Amino acid sequence: MDPGRRAGPPAPVRGRRLGLSGAGVPTPPAGAIRDPRQVRAIGSAIVRWGAAGDGGSRRPDLPWRSTRDPWAVLVSEVMAQQTQLARVVPAYRRFIARFPDPSACASAGLGDVLRAWEGLGYNRRAQNLHRAAGVIVETHGGTVPDGLSGLLALPGVGAYTARAVLAFAFEADVGVVDTNAGRVLSRAVAGRRIRPDEAQRLVDAMVPTGSGWMFGQSLLDLGALVCGVDRPRCEECPLRRRCRWAAMRLSGPDPAQGSAGVSTGQSRFAGSDRQGRGRLVDALRRGAVGPDRVGEEVGWPDDPVRVERMVSVLIDEGMVVRDAAGVLRLP
Ligand code: SF4
Repeated sequence: MDPGRRAGPPAPVRGRRLGLSGAGVPTPPAGAIRDPRQVRAIGSAIVRWGAAGDGGSRRPDLPWRSTRDPWAVLVSEVMAQQTQLARVVPAYRRFIARFPDPSACASAGLGDVLRAWEGLGYNRRAQNLHRAAGVIVETHGGTVPDGLSGLLALPGVGAYTARAVLAFAFEADVGVVDTNAGRVLSRAVAGRRIRPDEAQRLVDAMVPTGSGWMFGQSLLDLGALVCGVDRPRCEECPLRRRCRWAAMRLSGPDPAQGSAGVSTGQSRFAGSDRQGRGRLVDALRRGAVGPDRVGEEVGWPDDPVRVERMVSVLIDEGMVVRDAAGVLRLP
């Protein structure tokens, strides 16, 4: 069964804008940065560009784009944090086939969820997703909440992921700010570095009514495919005549540097605790690891103090269990 085409997604709420209370946040005009009419015109230009792509979007090959199932969208967004999409696609298909809804995930052991997370790294995201599934079952009757406050209360769900679920599952008219969107907002719309609150107000004001899904997908694609980190391809960009940084001939510091949502790059991986944690969880996916093998599996055979410190943290976090004989396993 194609997980991207599963039956029974909740009825979409096209065109819903977030309100002032309950699940919503205020969306004041973005006039402080740019004339609101220009902001809306930029949003419409982004939607036109995205809608002209194959299959109605620029990257139709991404399987979560053909579903509005909130659980599938949530899984895809959590997976896509800090992981290349080429690795996310097969893992997403595998994970959704194994855990097609929150209750399937919540009723599984964390070890099974971690095994299904293989190849994605940052295993704590799998643990958070498992916990989130538990909250969805216990607090929301097994249905992913459709409001901002409910989504933000889920473990591991931050501002971007919550709004992505609203826009991409419920088709709400809310903007999303990740590293790709952040580049476009700072370079094209603001022409300067922007704070997170400015970025959110700006992007919310750009969403054409009833186009929350298409706008969000198109904005992310524009940042990923055209307004890249090092070489923005302005000659192909639908915003080239409206872009503030292009009007400056890309002179001066890049407005995206240090701007809201824009990634500053990951810390060094080789030799890091993150690498050691990942190696140990990888080994435990294959089976139990006895105390005599832990240092070797982690890659620090000559540093038992560091190994024990890392193992203790993993045990405290609930990612790993150790029996009386010192043998480690996934929970
Ligand atoms: S015109 Fe150039 S700098 Fe401006 S948004 Fe497009 S690609 Fe980015």
